[in-house]
Amino acid sequence: MKADLTDLIEVSRKYGSDPDWVLVGGGNTSMKHEGAMFVKASGFELSTISAEGFVEMRLDALKSIWDKKYSADEDKREAEVLEDMMASRAEGQSSRPSVEALLHSLVKGRLVVHTHPSLINGLTCGREGEKILGDIFGDSALWVPLTKPGYILANEIKTRIDAAAAAGKPYPEMIFMQNHGLFVAGDTPADIERIQNKAVSALESRLKRKPAATVGAVDPELLSDFTAAAEKAWGRKLEARAAVNDDILAFSEDDSAFEPIRLPFNPDQIVYSGPGPLRIDDLNGLAQAVKAYTEFWKREPQAVLLRGKGVFTIGDTPKKADSALSLMIDTVKIAVYSESFGGALPMSDELIVFIRDWEVEQYRAKMSK
Ligand SMILES: [Zn+2]
Repeated sequence: MKADLTDLIEVSRKYGSDPDWVLVGGGNTSMKHEGAMFVKASGFELSTISAEGFVEMRLDALKSIWDKKYSADEDKREAEVLEDMMASRAEGQSSRPSVEALLHSLVKGRLVVHTHPSLINGLTCGREGEKILGDIFGDSALWVPLTKPGYILANEIKTRIDAAAAAGKPYPEMIFMQNHGLFVAGDTPADIERIQNKAVSALESRLKRKPAATVGAVDPELLSDFTAAAEKAWGRKLEARAAVNDDILAFSEDDSAFEPIRLPFNPDQIVYSGPGPLRIDDLNGLAQAVKAYTEFWKREPQAVLLRGKGVFTIGDTPKKADSALSLMIDTVKIAVYSESFGGALPMSDELIVFIRDWEVEQYRAKMSK
């Protein structure tokens, strides 16, 4: 019998079309039903998703991944787990499940919503995030420290869920992943809403200050000057976007003001806007700064803070430039929110390089083009 995906589609569209919850293809959802799990497929947008956007997977097959022994070699192991994950799809399913499908299978609850909201990530990217989470929610929320994505992250979550159960703690209704985002589980869309609202209001009540609510456009002449300078620096035709508000201007001021946003906070930021933005004092310094950045990161920058002017993003397509801008605006918000949770805690250098090179993430970036 085909499952009724109405509730799943409802929560997916609701949070997928709310920019406070979901940005640029980030976030995914699932529903468990009679031994099956329907999880968002790669390449679909939550805001417009319908039944075709979900892949049916067999929960027993996903569960059997934990009984298997995989290669010690990291790349081999990830490839083997991915293969087993693909083989866990129900017969006739051809879409590629979200890279986070294995995580969904671990979270108990009929409906599971996973998002990367800036407020929540102000906490998960805050130096005191873990402590503050414990103070607010006690055992009803689980903290998962920063680890490599894929099997290692899934294993970390599983270990922590199992340990909480072994200690006789209640099953956590929220899972906060450091430098990443939130998992919430519930039986109905109303449960999801109640739990997420609880998380939001608890965090909001602790805010010392809020990020600027909106961004403004920059002077079109300045944008065209930037585009010309960028095309010269990158050596090809480019799309450019820009935005400005008081927070962006404050971070653009000098190297020490810039520090909280110099390194990326989360995997999505790396995928869509690169391993951290550039900051320059004036456009004359752009070409030199791009060269140094590219040599250091082995990847071109996709975002530039221009002192006193705003943030600029570039891309080979309008969509790429737009995505990079959304992610940079999100980065600025996370940095401001994190001030209330101990100050900005970026991803580790090792993880930044790992995500930059991660095949699955590259695939996701390609799919969403
Ligand atoms: Zn995620």
